[in-house]
Amino acid sequence: MKCEHCTRKKGEFHRLADAKIFLSDCLACNSCLTAEEGAQLSQQSTKEFFRVLNLNKRCDTSKHRVLVVSVCPQSLPYFAAKFNLSVTDASRRLCGFLKSLGVHYVFDTSIAADLSILESQKEFVRRFHQHNEEQRALPMLTSACPGWVRYAERVLGHPVTPHLCAAKSPQQVMGSLVKDYFAKQQNLAPEKIFHVVVAPCYDKKLEALREGLSAAHGAQGADCVLTSGEVAQIMEQSDLSVKDAAVDTLFGDMKEATVRRHEGAGSDGHLAHVFRHAAKELFNEHVEEITYRALRNKDFQEVTLEKDGEVLLRFAAAYGFRNIQNMILKLKKGKFPYHFVEVLACPRGCLSGRGQAQTEDGHSDKTLLRQMESIYADIPVQPPETSAHLQEMYQAWLGSPGAQEVLHATHPSPVRCLGSLDIRW
Ligand code: SF4
Repeated sequence: MKCEHCTRKKGEFHRLADAKIFLSDCLACNSCLTAEEGAQLSQQSTKEFFRVLNLNKRCDTSKHRVLVVSVCPQSLPYFAAKFNLSVTDASRRLCGFLKSLGVHYVFDTSIAADLSILESQKEFVRRFHQHNEEQRALPMLTSACPGWVRYAERVLGHPVTPHLCAAKSPQQVMGSLVKDYFAKQQNLAPEKIFHVVVAPCYDKKLEALREGLSAAHGAQGADCVLTSGEVAQIMEQSDLSVKDAAVDTLFGDMKEATVRRHEGAGSDGHLAHVFRHAAKELFNEHVEEITYRALRNKDFQEVTLEKDGEVLLRFAAAYGFRNIQNMILKLKKGKFPYHFVEVLACPRGCLSGRGQAQTEDGHSDKTLLRQMESIYADIPVQPPETSAHLQEMYQAWLGSPGAQEVLHATHPSPVRCLGSLDIRW
């Protein structure tokens, strides 16, 4: 048995230099980052990933950790474009590559987005019923984007945080699925699993820190978040002549048959799915096609449900910090006509996350982004309600009292409020 500090052996991973995170790469406000968080962020690196892989190669099996990698669906178009593959082949290539490194399981985070959307739908309907008595029940603002949530919690504080949806984000739900549901199935203690998430942005690294040990299962949901660009860099420096492999599922030996996505041009589609559900539940209206109307720009759009000339539901999508700031100003002035807003920090949504859509000189790579958007649009949409496995999981995993806590988060008031909207994004 060899310990962590043993000299590196031949064949171990050592090619990459330490990954560096520049806060200009991150959409969160860097003045909100504490020194402790800064130090913890250095763990969110390819170096840490290789450290655990190498430990598994060197140490006694009793000390091994089960390596699980979860891949966000918005990362797959990047790998498809980068390696000139179809999205299904890109997913299989990535999975085969990660397994050749020593990763034990590769999952798709779409199932976590399913749960996040289903919980958001229920919460919206509940808030809609409450909003005559509880002024802050509406608008409901999505909480799936950590760049936006961090800004709301750290900078905007109490006037805004009660409006944040309490359903966990897809990454946080995936953390619960891996460290709680999957760990129980495999008869493993949560800390025996090292969970890596592959994501389009650096903000998800901060999100992994935010959850920390407060997760219901007592362990950090994601131990390490790597951006798509960081993973592609490892692939470019490695032997890619490995066997492709199908992505695993949380349901025994079953594999993911196809790549799927949710509705939404570059997001997990909370707006579209909550809108359809609310129209049916609250007004018994079946919505087939959702029509978006661009307002100030194409990153600020609205969707309405109207009947007999009356607006029953008014939803909006606000992407990018300029639109977010305008939205907040309206909210603070009390002139806010929306029941629900899907808020994302990146203009055009998650495909343009800075962990995958940047040129080497730090600018947005528009050609690559267009390519990714077209690849993403061709992925088949599967609504969360149609998954039979999900319904079973709800019964088996979340049926007991209190278990639903693993799907909900609280949004604290700011550690220190900057009290200004004058932040340059
Ligand atoms: S919108 Fe941008 S910052 Fe927010 S989750 Fe998506 S990629 Fe990350």
